[in-house]
Amino acid sequence: MTYTLRPFQQKIIDEVIESAKKHQNIVLVSNTGSGKTVIAAAILKRFNDKNRKAIFFVDRIDLTSQTIGKLGNIKYGVIASGYPEPNYDDCNVFIAMIQSFEGRTEWHDKHWDLQMYDECHESSWRSLSLKLIEASTKWVIGLTATPYRLSKKEFFADIFEDAIVAPSFAELQDMGYLARIEYRHVNHADFSQVKIIANEYSQEEVSKIVNTEKTIRECLEDYLKNGENKRAIAFGSTVDHAKEICRVANDMGITAELVVGETKERKFIFERCEQGITQMLVTVDALSKGFDLPAIKAVLLMAPTLSKSRILQRVGRGARPYNNEVCIVFDCVGCLDNLPALPCEIVHTKESILSRQPIREAGEAPVKTCPECCRIIGAYHSVCPYCAYNFPHKPKEIVEMDRAFSKLITAREVKLINTEEIHREYFRQLLRSEYAKSRCTTGAYTKYAERKFERYPKPLKHWGVGAIFNGDRAKFKQFCDTVKSGARVRFRGEMPQWMINNMIETEWGVKQNVAS
Ligand SMILES: [Zn+2]
Repeated sequence: MTYTLRPFQQKIIDEVIESAKKHQNIVLVSNTGSGKTVIAAAILKRFNDKNRKAIFFVDRIDLTSQTIGKLGNIKYGVIASGYPEPNYDDCNVFIAMIQSFEGRTEWHDKHWDLQMYDECHESSWRSLSLKLIEASTKWVIGLTATPYRLSKKEFFADIFEDAIVAPSFAELQDMGYLARIEYRHVNHADFSQVKIIANEYSQEEVSKIVNTEKTIRECLEDYLKNGENKRAIAFGSTVDHAKEICRVANDMGITAELVVGETKERKFIFERCEQGITQMLVTVDALSKGFDLPAIKAVLLMAPTLSKSRILQRVGRGARPYNNEVCIVFDCVGCLDNLPALPCEIVHTKESILSRQPIREAGEAPVKTCPECCRIIGAYHSVCPYCAYNFPHKPKEIVEMDRAFSKLITAREVKLINTEEIHREYFRQLLRSEYAKSRCTTGAYTKYAERKFERYPKPLKHWGVGAIFNGDRAKFKQFCDTVKSGARVRFRGEMPQWMINNMIETEWGVKQNVAS
């Protein structure tokens, strides 16, 4: 099969080739919808035509077959279990599962003109890649849609000398390659106390919170009310959770089918969904990458995740254009709070990538929820673009608190200085920033944990004492009242008791009743 490159894809490839004349190590930032495998295949083909050796490292098997599908009729070898062992001299282009490649040491000292790495922000590439790059290669190209870990010291981001940036989400929407997306806030639990293992929430613990009939029902009810009957995909935390979502959905009259790792007959399930016989597909991770069913125009995020790429991949499942329809994303777990901005508002530039600054730091408020229509929008809006709701100005005292802390500490500084004092101060800064954004303390705990500080991975118990109200119970009560009066955009109506308790415990260091 031959592929006609879209004009912007051809432009990216031209830019890569131009850059390769001057640079050896290039990172290519390509968004959901920009056709990463098409671009990768075109680059591989070019190396093949020039009779040069190129290897493409991937970390999941379905990407292997996807890339092969786009290579046309050139000769290639695959280094992965389930494929016959190729011979280095037989062809120019190779696709390798990194896990298989690692185990086959006879491949480690081969020469490559090009080493290309998919999802190069992932830490799974480990030390082997660095060793290979050092040993013998002319060019290295790293592909990523989410260059969030490209800070100087992390992974092999520091080797890249040039960055090529594909069109942004919004640009692809304007060109008609991605659908418009709306985001809805669905009331959800607090996950800040959930254990974090290997940079991700313990899904087992998460499951205890989200896998209840009541919680599932609430999400699905919002979908029934606001989902305009659109065909949907729902992401659960575990297979059991996904099964339960499926059961409850069918119980509520939504025809739902489960698609998890072991599911066979997927082709038929997708066909039924395409035809509208099945309205909702429920999955954990089986459909978060590479799955393509344009008819899906609702995405239900029902499992919290700290992984920005996972959120973008999940949202991306509804982003294929289809009859000019808008895709509705239901954020039932607060996922979008973990992004630097709404997916369609994230913009990377060559400069932002090469400066290797962390994309988001404390003090920025990326998104907020409109209390009137429950849509999640960029925090900079003073009027809701959907329902024209006028956001009230922030209460004065909170603004002052924010200003008093104008010199912001960065996570980088904390890691560098590495004392308890700076960790504590950083946490207090996060607390102030959360309050200034009309949120409660839990967000500060989540954000702190996300920084993955080695010395103090979690804030110590007394760190938050006096950070906001300085012991002044009257001010605290005033804060709670403002929330109740509806001035705080994050909560609708009354603040839940657990939230108040959490704030009291942080501010006073002990559980006590000061709200009354
Ligand atoms: Zn609104």
